[in-house]
Amino acid sequence: MEPGTQTDSRKQRDKKHCMRIVCPHCGNDHDFIEVADEVVITTRYIQHPDCSFSQAGDESHVMGDISFFCGECNADITQFHPRFLEMLF
Ligand SMILES: [Zn+2]
Repeated sequence: MEPGTQTDSRKQRDKKHCMRIVCPHCGNDHDFIEVADEVVITTRYIQHPDCSFSQAGDESHVMGDISFFCGECNADITQFHPRFLEMLF
C-alpha cells in the first residue's frame, strides 16, 4: 500500500467517528460530568534515605457503575458514555 493511500483512509475514519455528543435536554455540547461508583485508588510511594516520601505512581480501578451527566442541566446521558470513551484520549 502506498503511504499516501494510508493517510487518506485515516482521515476518512477520523471524520466518520467525529460525532459530537449533545445533551438532548439543553443542547450543551461542551461540558460533561462522569461519576464513578466504588473507585479503589492505589498509590505507590518510595521512601528516601532522608525518610521523606515521594509518589511513584497511582492507579484507579472502578468497581461500581459509571454514570455520565450533562454539565449544564445534570441530565443523565449515560447512554452516550460508550461514545465518550471512544473519543477520550
Ligand atoms: Zn443538558
